[in-house]
Amino acid sequence: MKKRKAIVAGNWKMNKTVAEAIALAQEIKRDLADFRDVDVVLCPPFTALKAVGDVVSGTHIDLGAQNMHWEKSGAFTGEVSPGMLRDLFCHYVILGHSERRQYFGETDAIVNKKAKAALASNLKPIVCVGETLQERESGRMAHVVETQVRGSLAGLSARELVETIIAYEPVWAIGTGKTATSAQAQEVHALIRGVIQIMADETVAQSVRIQYGGSVKASNARELFSQPDIDGGLIGGAALEARSFIDIVRAGV
Ligand code: PEP
Repeated sequence: MKKRKAIVAGNWKMNKTVAEAIALAQEIKRDLADFRDVDVVLCPPFTALKAVGDVVSGTHIDLGAQNMHWEKSGAFTGEVSPGMLRDLFCHYVILGHSERRQYFGETDAIVNKKAKAALASNLKPIVCVGETLQERESGRMAHVVETQVRGSLAGLSARELVETIIAYEPVWAIGTGKTATSAQAQEVHALIRGVIQIMADETVAQSVRIQYGGSVKASNARELFSQPDIDGGLIGGAALEARSFIDIVRAGV
């Protein structure tokens, strides 16, 4: 039995109208409203946060956003602040997803600013890291992941690190149907925990939750989540359908 409680988050990306988001959240709520064995987080697009928040209000299901700006307010057209997310009762925010790093130029320094701003506003950051296929095949996986972890989490206190969730998402496994084997994933999770131990200490490293993400399905979730350093998952495609998401959540027990 692991000391850490598993956490499974659904990243809905740029999918679902408000009506579709409500329907999906209601279906998930019907099954998981009172389920306490795994922390469950729904991350709809900004436009559906209020509606999904209303559906899950009063349950054990938490709300998360997929991104935010680091400033409190100001002339940042199109951006959303940490306080605005708290206003909508978000408790989590995904930061530095590989799609944001790849298409929107997010660097470790930007992710670091966002992580600090999130924590200062009582939002738990889900900080994503992971190597590309080319980086893995050229033997640079460990270096790339360590650099992302150190850069994205630089300057966080021990208390802040414990509040932070790290999502290891090999870029080659996201949305591709190619899952890392449980052994491949476990190897990197252990490596990340080792980096946290060097950045902080053993107690912090053993407390930080590290999710796996990348083509997780109901059929492979249990094996992945049972690895000693894997504490649940960040789920993309399979989170868009209630039954598969619920089955993945229940695999985290
Ligand atoms: C993700 O984008 O965070 C993700 C893991 O996607 P998928 O589950 O579709 O691979």
